[in-house]
Amino acid sequence: MLKRILVTGGAGFLGSHLCERLVVDGHDVICLDNFFTSQKSNVVHLLDRPNFELVRHDITLPMFLEVDEIYNLACPAAPGHYQYNPIKTLKTSVVGSINVLGMAKRCRAKVLQASTSEVYGDPEVHPQPETYRGAVNTLGPRACYDEGKRAAETLFMDYHRMNRVNVRIARIFNTYGPRMHPFDGRVISNFIRQALAEEPITIFGDGTQTRSFCYRDDLVEGLIRMMNAPDDFIGPVNLGNPGEFSMLELAQLVIELTGSRSPLVYRPLPADDPAQRQPDITLARARLAWEPTVPLRDGLALTIAWFRAIDLAHYRPPTPNY
Ligand code: NAD
Ligand code: UDP
Repeated sequence: MLKRILVTGGAGFLGSHLCERLVVDGHDVICLDNFFTSQKSNVVHLLDRPNFELVRHDITLPMFLEVDEIYNLACPAAPGHYQYNPIKTLKTSVVGSINVLGMAKRCRAKVLQASTSEVYGDPEVHPQPETYRGAVNTLGPRACYDEGKRAAETLFMDYHRMNRVNVRIARIFNTYGPRMHPFDGRVISNFIRQALAEEPITIFGDGTQTRSFCYRDDLVEGLIRMMNAPDDFIGPVNLGNPGEFSMLELAQLVIELTGSRSPLVYRPLPADDPAQRQPDITLARARLAWEPTVPLRDGLALTIAWFRAIDLAHYRPPTPNY
């Protein structure tokens, strides 16, 4: 069935790919974004499609739209972006979720929250299943994002219990691919940009910390399956690629795939940087029949090709946003 679908944060890295997929599937798509960490170029190719609409708006302010489904992706996601204005980040997750959920309640829309593996903090359980309650430092520089996303999950559950809003919660693990903001400071964008420029590759700490990287197409498929899951499955569900790599292994792979001669340089480990992270996706496999299909090597090759093709002069760091 064709639906009217709102994607908040729809001009961002993941949001733009989600919009693209939903437009191709024939849905009526509204992309809403304040362009804090993105730019119109991510969705410019969709602007002449009759079933695509772009709205500049900030979700911390109420919105009134008539839709059947909402994917709530609006939130800066990279540490440098979300720490730029931490109070705004928290507001986006908390006030923004209240606005989105209020709208979902009014127009009886189904609403999916893009939550995160950061709700597990620096985990003591490995790999992380959805039942693990996490270890987040409420006082550290990552808390504005982690605690905001945790509070958003709480709001989603309370609107579900109290107001019968049909919700879904997806906990997304590190995802990468073309259209990542080249200056977002995330490890994949940094390493690829540095390797292509033959600049030193910045390893934070000793590089033994691990992450598990999911290619964006796999992730978008997971989000859509979660939205369309039977109503008795609201999550939370982990979406990510269980392939786990240390940052040193990642750097070696990027060097190999780019043919770069960049040396490695070591920088201090940021505060509260999780030591290891790997999704347990047993639940997603069982309930969504979903698992990633793109290995890191293949996804990196596609991402590197995109980075080679873009003009970095067209990208700016996030603008002040109060
Ligand atoms: P992104 O920064 O590219 O996208 C976020 C989008 O939200 C941007 O277009 C930004 O301009 C917009 N935005 C931010 N604050 C807003 C506000 N107040 N009102 C309206 N729009 C606003 O990041 P992404 O990687 O595409 O992440 C999308 C979502 O997925 C985020 O909610 C993020 O927390 C979540 N997520 C992403 C990852 C990942 O690895 N990419 C992992 C876990 C969770
Ligand atoms: N990292 C790194 N060099 C960089 C950027 C990041 O070694 O230039 C490390 C960072 O310390 C973390 C990992 O890479 O351990 C992933 O960082 P990212 O910011 O991509 O995501 P997150 O920490 O939110 O998972």
